[in-house]
Amino acid sequence: MIDSEFPRRNCPACGADQPRDEVFSERRAETVSLEELRPFWAGLFKEKVFFTYARCQSCDQMYTPHFFTSAQLGELYANMAPNMEDVPGPALEATQRDYWREARKTAPLDGGFLEIGPDIGYIVRDAALEVKYDHYWLFEPNRAVHAELAAATNGKPHTISTDMDDLSPVPDGSIGLAVMVHVLDHLLDPAAILSQIRTKLKPGGALMIVTHNEKSLLRLLMGVKFPPFCLQHPELYNPNTMTKLLKRAGYETVTIGRSRNYFPLAFMIRQAAWTAGIDLAKAPLPQTPIGLKLGNMLTLAKVAA
Ligand SMILES: [Zn+2]
Repeated sequence: MIDSEFPRRNCPACGADQPRDEVFSERRAETVSLEELRPFWAGLFKEKVFFTYARCQSCDQMYTPHFFTSAQLGELYANMAPNMEDVPGPALEATQRDYWREARKTAPLDGGFLEIGPDIGYIVRDAALEVKYDHYWLFEPNRAVHAELAAATNGKPHTISTDMDDLSPVPDGSIGLAVMVHVLDHLLDPAAILSQIRTKLKPGGALMIVTHNEKSLLRLLMGVKFPPFCLQHPELYNPNTMTKLLKRAGYETVTIGRSRNYFPLAFMIRQAAWTAGIDLAKAPLPQTPIGLKLGNMLTLAKVAA
């Protein structure tokens, strides 16, 4: 047991207190002060510092037994630069369009649409153009994107809220499709939000979740340098732990596939070079978007019809 400025917690999936350390940085975040961690949160240093990831010996969930409090998190996110600033528009749009195509294969295309963390509304825009959801419920803490997000609904009825923890404005049993793209592995209490969303889904309604996969080939290849091992993720999922968490939250069927990410070729080359210890930050490189099934997974969970 170490003396840490950060609170210790039990497994967020099953509540057990049986962690076994699995992945850690040279300097472990739980041994560093909050003030010292700030520059690492902002990505100002190349040295990787993150909270030790442990495997729950009861349910197999990967999580950090120490993590920021929700108050500390709120403050850190408020001062954070925009997400994925290295991945420019066309590649990000192509990635999100694939998510929507996957969702519309199995989700009901009527009732309401709910998204947590929609950013500027990539999926909202495609859904509003192609199908007829009767209301868009959008939970996005970043007020700076709210105008663009509202525009993405293309004049459809919508409600935008900054509170990601409270879905109470949404009528129970009304939602055809709920969406969370790179949100679940940022939450301190993922089980609570999954239960809340389940009560909002209509019979046969679907929840689509995109997360990293800590059992992916990319993780195997990169080891401790796997980018999702970072200060922003209090837990990470694999297909088994994701399925268990969703079943426990009351979802009937869970299907999981690898998702495709589009990156500018330049970004891929820089990442590969950085992993090998070469800095190509200033080299001129092509921006062509390329799609790769890498370290991510796309989960579709449905409630009983
Ligand atoms: Zn557990």
